[in-house]
Amino acid sequence: MSAISAKNLTKAYQRGGETLQVLDGVDLEVAAGEFLALTGPSGSGKSTILNFLGGLDRPDEGSVIVGGTDITRLKGASLADWRSRSVGFIFQAFNLIPVLTALENVELPLLLQPLGRRERREHARHALDIVGLADRIDHRPRQLSGGQEQRCAIARAIVTDPDVILADEPTGDLDVKSGRQVLEILKRLSGEHGKTIVMVTHDPEAAAFADREFRLESGRLAETSHP
Ligand code: ADP
Ligand code: MG
Repeated sequence: MSAISAKNLTKAYQRGGETLQVLDGVDLEVAAGEFLALTGPSGSGKSTILNFLGGLDRPDEGSVIVGGTDITRLKGASLADWRSRSVGFIFQAFNLIPVLTALENVELPLLLQPLGRRERREHARHALDIVGLADRIDHRPRQLSGGQEQRCAIARAIVTDPDVILADEPTGDLDVKSGRQVLEILKRLSGEHGKTIVMVTHDPEAAAFADREFRLESGRLAETSHP
């Protein structure tokens, strides 16, 4: 069974009396533990797809089945509950909370779960260890480099041990070296930890870290051959 099975996704936006057809029947199957790159021109709908896969938005038509659940049928609290248990998000701009330490940032998603303070700390420390930030847990975001901030954001995304990780241009704001570190961590999360990863990127070098690459263009998705 696929970890992610999206079928016939369509989405249109109305703008100034005109209809913008962003997605026009997109199908996507991702196997468990697979690391998939989603590329395509700016404005082609990459983030739109990612938001559908994470239940942050829903398509006009089509189904999105993640881990056996059709999330287009979930609403309100049950959707929020599903999201907090099942997916981790990583964004281009890291989105860490400036007044919290690295450890406190990583602990945040666990506040939605029935865990004691000590367990939360343990899980957060473990996640920070996986991304190589064990020695930075008391630093605030502005005391971290960009690469360290993004690694902290990855720790926050994995702290609840979700099956699926969705990353939207995770290396977009990083220098080449920090970007590679982030990509190597993502590759390890799929290869060693069995996470299913969908990463949006416009960088061919970043896409080359993935197992498969799909390109979105004119509302349609096609697999691109990988060397
Ligand atoms: P990408 O991530 O590939 O750059 P997006 O998925 O963010 O593209 O957006 C796809 C298209 O849909 C763009 O043309 C964008 O302007 C448009 N769009 C996205 N969200 C909205 C919205 N809420 N209202 C109107 N248009 C939108
Ligand atoms: Mg985008």
